[in-house]
Amino acid sequence: MDTRDFIQLEDIYTAHNYHPLDAVLTKGKGIWVWDVEGNKYLDFLSGYSAINHGHCHPRIVKIVQQQAKRLTLTGRAFRNDQWPLLGKELCELTGYEMVLAMNSGAEAIETAIKTARKWAYQKKGVPQDRAEIIACANNFHGRTVTIISFSTESLYRNDFGPFTPGFVIIPYGDIDALRQAITANTAAFLVEPIQAEAGILIPPAGYLKAAKEVCAEHDVLFIADEIQTGLGRTGKVFACDHEGVKADMAVIGKSLGGGCYPISATLAMRDVLGVFKPGEHGSTFGGNPLACAVARESLRVIQDEKLMENATEQGSYFLEKLKTIKSRHVKEVRGRGLLIGIELKPEAGGARRYCEELKKEGLLCKETHDNVIRFAPPLVIKQKDLNWAYRRIKRVFKRLN
Ligand SMILES: *Cc1c(COP(=O)(O)O)cnc(C)c1O
Repeated sequence: MDTRDFIQLEDIYTAHNYHPLDAVLTKGKGIWVWDVEGNKYLDFLSGYSAINHGHCHPRIVKIVQQQAKRLTLTGRAFRNDQWPLLGKELCELTGYEMVLAMNSGAEAIETAIKTARKWAYQKKGVPQDRAEIIACANNFHGRTVTIISFSTESLYRNDFGPFTPGFVIIPYGDIDALRQAITANTAAFLVEPIQAEAGILIPPAGYLKAAKEVCAEHDVLFIADEIQTGLGRTGKVFACDHEGVKADMAVIGKSLGGGCYPISATLAMRDVLGVFKPGEHGSTFGGNPLACAVARESLRVIQDEKLMENATEQGSYFLEKLKTIKSRHVKEVRGRGLLIGIELKPEAGGARRYCEELKKEGLLCKETHDNVIRFAPPLVIKQKDLNWAYRRIKRVFKRLN
C-alpha cells in the first residue's frame, strides 16, 4: 500500500473532521518521522505539544512496556500504586496541593469548570445555577459541547447547539474588560497564558499578573489552561511562571503523556479541589496505572534532560534567526520558548501553502487559522537541527516571495 491507498481508505472510512497534510507517517524517533514511502521529515508541530519529549522516547517507551506487562487498568473502584505517586510528584513539581486526573485536555477543562462551579456554590455563596465563568475571545479549550459553548469560532460551533449557559466572553489581553465583566456570581476566569490555536497570541506584558490580582480582589478563581503551554514548551513549568503568577487552577494534558499515552490533569490547592466528594466526578480511565507510570517518567525526563532550559535557549536562538528572514509577506515573528509563530500578511495567500511547501522540504508544520505558521518542534531539538530547518524555511520564503 502506498500513500495514495492510505489516503483513499481514510477518505472513505473515517470522518472528515481534519484536513491533514498528505504524509502518511509510520515511524518516529526523536524529532524525526518517516512516511510509508520512506521519506524523512522533521516534526515541527510535536502533536500540538503532546510530543515535547520527541517520538518514542526510549525511557518512556521502556516504562510503557514494563507497566503494560504489570498492570494497566483498575478503574478507580480500587486503588493502584502509580496514581498516588504521580499525585505527589506532580504537586512537588508544580507547587499545588491536589490533582485530579482525566484523559483528554477537554475533560480536564470540564473538570476545572465543574470544580469552579461547585466551589462558587459551596465556598463563595453564589446562588444555585447562577455561577458565571469568564473566558476570552478566540480561546481554544477543547471540543465538548460545554467548551464550544464559549468558543467564538463559528467553525467550532455551527450546528452543534443548543449550548451550555453560564459563560461570558471578553477580549483577550484586556484587563479593564475583565474588571467590568466580574459580577457577584463570577466563579472563575479561564484563560490561556498564550493563545496558541488562535495564532500564538501573546498577551501584553503584565496582563496575567494584573488579571490574577483582579481575580483575587473579587474572590474569583484564576484558571490557566496550560495544556499546550505547560510542562516546558515556553521554557518554564507553566507559561504563567513568566509573570510569576500562580493560577488557582492549572490544567495540563498533552505532553504529560510523554507522546505515548493520553493523560490530563487539573491542579489546585486543597481549598479548591477539595470540594469533590466520592461519586461527584470521575472517569473510567482517569488515573489508570499505565497513564500514571508514563506521566511520572515523562516528568522525570523533562527534568533530567533539562527540556525547559533547552526550550528557552533554542527558542530564543531560533526566534532571532527567524526574524532575519526577509520577505514582504511576513507581518510578525513572535514566540516564547519553542512556541513560535510567523504571521503572514493577508495578501500572502495563506499559511497552508507555506506548510505544503515546507513539507516538500522535509519539514512538517501546521497553519493555525489562516495566516500563522506555527513552529513547535520537540523540546529535545538541538541547534544544528534548527539550523537545518532554518535553511529550508528561508528557501520556501524565497520561493513564495
Ligand atoms: C489541545 C488543547 C486543549 C484540548 O485538549 P484535547 O486533549 O485535544 O482535548 C485545550 N486547551 C488547549 C490550550 C489546547 O492546546
